[in-house]
Amino acid sequence: MSDRPVYVTQPSLPPLDEFIPYLESIWDSKRLTNAGPMHEQLEQALSEYLGVEHIALFNNGTIALLTALQALRVTGEVITTPYSFVATAHSLLWNGIKPVFVDIDPHSFNLDPSKIEAAITPETTAIMPVHCYGRPCDVVAIQKIADAYNLNVIYDAAHAFGVKDSGGSILRHGDLSILSFHATKVFNTFEGGAIICPDAKTKLHIDHLKNFGFVDEVTVVAPGINGKMSEINAAFGLLQLKYIDEALAKRCEIDRIYRESLKDVKGITFYDGSDQVTANYSYFPILVEDEFPLSRDELYNKLKDHNIYSRRYFYPLISEFPMYRGMESARISNLSVANSVSNKVICLPIYPLLDKKDMANIINVLRNS
Ligand SMILES: *Cc1c(COP(=O)(O)O)cnc(C)c1O
Repeated sequence: MSDRPVYVTQPSLPPLDEFIPYLESIWDSKRLTNAGPMHEQLEQALSEYLGVEHIALFNNGTIALLTALQALRVTGEVITTPYSFVATAHSLLWNGIKPVFVDIDPHSFNLDPSKIEAAITPETTAIMPVHCYGRPCDVVAIQKIADAYNLNVIYDAAHAFGVKDSGGSILRHGDLSILSFHATKVFNTFEGGAIICPDAKTKLHIDHLKNFGFVDEVTVVAPGINGKMSEINAAFGLLQLKYIDEALAKRCEIDRIYRESLKDVKGITFYDGSDQVTANYSYFPILVEDEFPLSRDELYNKLKDHNIYSRRYFYPLISEFPMYRGMESARISNLSVANSVSNKVICLPIYPLLDKKDMANIINVLRNS
């Protein structure tokens, strides 16, 4: 039994006193937002850290998704995954776009490329896959389909901060990739997000869109939105970045211990990580299979009784929420893998300061059920 509640995640926070000089600098400059010095420094620092050339910061990941769809003028229908956080599909509905759900791959839990083509109609203009849990999508297969049908690809990479494949950052794929820096993500700025752009021209357009469409004092070129990241959030990001490698190393160690301790537990399965070159260990999902003595929900409740608050990410599927479930593509028969995974999954607590004792506790509940 853990003596305090252990949640699925806990935000990383640097030492408070190290943040004070950043605040003093903001107070001195009197620049609070609108591409101030902290914002510009964070864009630069993140480009370098992530290994991407052009990045536009946002106030959160959802506004970044909305803006990405606007930037590419996406309309009609967009193929996406039901196995994600609800913002993925909501960003389509908010743009008057119809989401078309396609099933996931049973290994990666990402959009199954072999099922995309059957869902393409004359209205389809784009594909919006998610690198779920930071596991890379089959980017090559997806791009091949997009090229053949002249579709845009917008990656919801909210989970994929720092993830790399053999060619470099996973964020370089598709037309645009979106990050979230929400408090619960691997890298957080309290609230925040970003769009990774392929070139300077696209970034400039997106920079205009996130500031109401202003190009200069008297010129508005598009019906933009307010998607700007404030100086406080950007400053916090700069400080966070100093600790990110340490945070990732601690996550990696927790991931290793879970794998070691759970590998011989009958009825518990997890991803072997073989598709990734550099992972970010953002989540530790397990599947509770039929051979496990407890059902998924029984295990979820048993963990709660031990003061451990795991989460069933992603249950229910996005396609089960009321604004989606009437859609033809939301039928369970169309999404059998996603439905099965969604009914088996539990994400175990993983965060840099996860206590060794609490972890032992979690492992004990799983091993002795
Ligand atoms: C967190 C998340 C978002 C939304 O990001 P916010 O910064 O919270 O707006 C979008 N998609 C996925 C997959 C997410 O996990």
